Amino acid sequence: MALRRVLILGATGSIGQSALDIIRRHPDRLAVVGLTAGRNVEALSAAAREFNPSWVAIADPSAEDELRQKLKGFRGNIASGIDGICDCARHCGADICISAIVGGAGLEPTLAAIAAGQDIALANKEILVAGGEIVLRALAASGRRLLPVDSEHWAIFQCLQNRGTAQVRRIILTASGGPFRGKKNEEIGNATRSAALNHPVWKMGDKISIDSATLANKALEVIEAHWLFDLPYDKIKVLVHPQSVVHGLVEFEDGTMLAQMSIPDMRIPIQGALAWPEQWHAPAPHLDLTRLDALTFEPPDLAAFPLLELGIQAGRRGGTAPCLFSAANEEAVRMFLAGEISFADIARAVRSALANTPISEVVDMAMLRQTAAAGREHVRSRKWSS
Ligand code: NAD
Ligand code: MG
Repeated sequence: MALRRVLILGATGSIGQSALDIIRRHPDRLAVVGLTAGRNVEALSAAAREFNPSWVAIADPSAEDELRQKLKGFRGNIASGIDGICDCARHCGADICISAIVGGAGLEPTLAAIAAGQDIALANKEILVAGGEIVLRALAASGRRLLPVDSEHWAIFQCLQNRGTAQVRRIILTASGGPFRGKKNEEIGNATRSAALNHPVWKMGDKISIDSATLANKALEVIEAHWLFDLPYDKIKVLVHPQSVVHGLVEFEDGTMLAQMSIPDMRIPIQGALAWPEQWHAPAPHLDLTRLDALTFEPPDLAAFPLLELGIQAGRRGGTAPCLFSAANEEAVRMFLAGEISFADIARAVRSALANTPISEVVDMAMLRQTAAAGREHVRSRKWSS
């Protein structure tokens, strides 16, 4: 394979840093041409010095001076603000973009990368949830590929390869169950920030860690799967599998199932997407079946984790509903992390936003922006705790 030029949107985050680890292992196959971050100057400048991309951009405009100071002698372009990030995406000359900004802020830069003709390795599920039609339309116009960088979706993608979905009875996305698996609603309503961030399996960014504790993450993933694999919601099922060894399963009409298994390590799907259609030597230890405990599967507790059903309902409803769900959830999670609302308030606020904001067809980006702003505003402007 010719050298692949890589843009990482969200290079300083959990996925971004794992992606850099993969690129470090394959200097003959992968080169970094663009790096972006939200406001972490330290980590962004360190990565820029190590990988020497042609573009570096930081979302926070007030951090640009410090970034320039830290990158004295750097010969590439330095930019800031959302426009700077989009310019980086447009002009860095990448073949593939790892879209790993967290939340709705990643939509415009990812669309810029698509318009520039890059394949998209998508970690940022929120943008497919909010703008599935728009993202897929843009990809259809560019003729480039969408590769999932989410362990469950990478699993399904691998199980489906070259088969299509005509014979698929359903797909199953597994969920670890998060830190509160087995607990009841009333036991977790006042959970602390640190308890909610304490994921039993994955070490991830704060937002997805909270989404994993509420199971909103799994709702986002069901909607993500709907768009990625063009499957109706009736064919997408969620099972809690606390060992996190089986990442996804495809059940066929003939009564057989294919499952994909590996140790839980995001470098596997990240490398998988960067290497595809090739497969490279594992970036993480191989799974030793003789050392596994029993593998168990159970239905999720919808009463304890109401965001799972709320999110899937929003997906089924379609139009701007999933965008509203995602934006309201993002705002509620931000407020929970800031200590402004309780854990139970996250679901309360999202439910209220969905019930009280008009839903329409998605016509364009402006409509998505307006919907997301309305969802965030609804969550921000009310008192939630009962
Ligand atoms: P993170 O918080 O660790 O990193 C987020 C990155 O986005 C950082 O580089 C940050 O600087 C940047 N960023 C934040 N706000 C920004 C803004 N307004 N504008 C521009 N850049 C901004 O998050 P993460 O855990 O790496 O997750 C990233 C995405 O990948 C999320 O959508 C998440 O759901 C998805 N994902 C993560 C994992 C995981 O294991 N971490 C697994 C599957 C999917
Ligand atoms: Mg996942």
